[in-house]
Amino acid sequence: MEQINVTIAGPRGRMGKEAVQLVKDTEHFTLISVIDHKKDVDLDVPVYADIQTCFQDRVPHVLIDLTTPEVGYHHTKTALEYGVRPVVGTTGFSQEELQELKVLSESKSTGCIIAPNFAIGAVLMMKFSQMAAKYFDDVEIIELHHDQKLDAPSGTALKTAEMIREVRETKKQGHPNEKETHSGARGADVDGMHIHSIRLPGLIAHQQVMLGAEGQTLTIRHDSFNRGSFMSGVKVSVETVMKLDTLVYGLENILD
Ligand code: NAP
Repeated sequence: MEQINVTIAGPRGRMGKEAVQLVKDTEHFTLISVIDHKKDVDLDVPVYADIQTCFQDRVPHVLIDLTTPEVGYHHTKTALEYGVRPVVGTTGFSQEELQELKVLSESKSTGCIIAPNFAIGAVLMMKFSQMAAKYFDDVEIIELHHDQKLDAPSGTALKTAEMIREVRETKKQGHPNEKETHSGARGADVDGMHIHSIRLPGLIAHQQVMLGAEGQTLTIRHDSFNRGSFMSGVKVSVETVMKLDTLVYGLENILD
């Protein structure tokens, strides 16, 4: 199997630590460097405070980014400019940023995978929700995450709403005269669907999609109980990005 050299940005983070372990445990992956702005990492590979210096010294095949939205966007853009293939788990990119990265990826013929959720079960939860939404017009998405998460709603919730939007007519849900007596009570409105973001210590990443129709509801739920649940998706993304020359958004688009 082809040997893949990997750089990880954010190796000290909760996801980053798991990714370091994954790369070390995978025979055909080699961790050649990490990017940590505080250089506060105890690993037997070079540690760089910034991406430019890192890539000037040695260019990897793949960059795994698990940082923050602003930093992740800068890293993804820089990687594409260097011809390095990004696998991005960082969430919170805007539609404009995603579009800009897609154009850059295509102009450089350099593959890129951005996945708001690397858990295979979460991808199935999104697909099952899309299937169900063909028959149930009313959808409420409840996403639940740990209280250190920076972005809301979650990338997974927005991606789920986008997938449902593809099969569902726009519909304003609830009573036509509905009024919030407390702002935010009905959650975020995406094409008439509502997204509710719950943040609590103790949670990892969970999502429940509730669909309603006359006399019945259907609930589809996925729970990630630890960050190891995301790593099989990261592994398949690193392998797949080597064969791409465009940007793919969402793990569901690279799975059979
Ligand atoms: P986290 O524990 O806060 O880790 C983020 C790490 O990035 C921190 O160690 C942070 O360091 C570091 N960082 C910040 N600026 C940096 C820079 N310029 N260079 C290098 N490192 C930098 O967060 P997490 O829970 O691991 O999540 C990371 C990202 O992945 C988030 O966007 C989260 O939403 C996303 N996520 C995605 C999935 C998925 O399946 N796609 C699953 C879970 C989480 P400091 O703390 O010192 O600033």
